[in-house]
Amino acid sequence: MSVSADIYPWLLEHWTFFCQRLEQDKLAHAIMLQGPAGNGKSVLADAMVAKLLCVENESEGLTRACGWCRSCKLLVGGAHPDRFDIQPEEDSLVIKIDQIRGLISTLNLTTSVSKRKVAYIHPAEAMTRASANALLKSLEEPVGNAVLILVCNDAGGLPVTIRSRCQSILVHQPDFKLTLDWLMRRSGESRDAVTAALQAAGGSPVRGAHFLASPEQDSFDQIQKGLATLITRPGSVSAIGTELSKLNPDNLWRWLSICTAAAAKSAMAGESLDWLPADAVMKIKVLLHLQKRADLNRKISTSPVRGDLLLQDWLIRWAEQNT
Ligand SMILES: [Zn+2]
Repeated sequence: MSVSADIYPWLLEHWTFFCQRLEQDKLAHAIMLQGPAGNGKSVLADAMVAKLLCVENESEGLTRACGWCRSCKLLVGGAHPDRFDIQPEEDSLVIKIDQIRGLISTLNLTTSVSKRKVAYIHPAEAMTRASANALLKSLEEPVGNAVLILVCNDAGGLPVTIRSRCQSILVHQPDFKLTLDWLMRRSGESRDAVTAALQAAGGSPVRGAHFLASPEQDSFDQIQKGLATLITRPGSVSAIGTELSKLNPDNLWRWLSICTAAAAKSAMAGESLDWLPADAVMKIKVLLHLQKRADLNRKISTSPVRGDLLLQDWLIRWAEQNT
């Protein structure tokens, strides 16, 4: 893990809250970070863990972990003896009771490097009912100087008894404009590209950033270019269809749906998109129909249908709207 990764702007208020509680010696021994997946909770949790373990900057205002003390170096190396990472094991979807029992007995031992031990449990809702009950005991009777950090995407999946014994930090999805500005600054991409990436990522800023930085972005650019070409050269359906049919069908239909939705939205607002010709005549009714078809085709893309024919048919409808 990194001890000095950027704390995203929408997480700063939570970081401040955490640091103030720590400085005032009022930090609960169990903290729960909750909110939708992909909003940066794990970055915040990593920063908290590092600061709690750092032997230099542990309680100094809003400062981050120092990055160079023995504790910080051990964290970066992934082998800190006072940090415990509890998550589903490789072959499992759940956090088993044995993992929680093992954690509790280890937390009872004295620390090796830092002033306290820190357990990082994620996603907390993966605990089975028995695991949650086992953990409950240590929430009721705190173990020594240990701090538990639970991260969950769906707090409803946890018993109320667990939630009520943790200091809760609600991390909301940042608003769209803040996310858009942040991603544009971070990636250097255009507003349209970032908007499309955020749509592809279901609004998640972290997944949106990942999407913009990943090779998938190349395929997305290829789809946008293909659709733009069809507006000016409707006769190239066959050639473009052949190229696009080489892409992963699930991604292909998802992105066709996103592109069509973006085109419909801009047509309704009377605006143009930077990946489409400025004089393109987009028909809202056709676009909405095409988006629905793309969503439907995505669902059936795993069944043995002639995906190339579905794609050709879809692209013909797209190309026809400007004729
Ligand atoms: Zn340090």
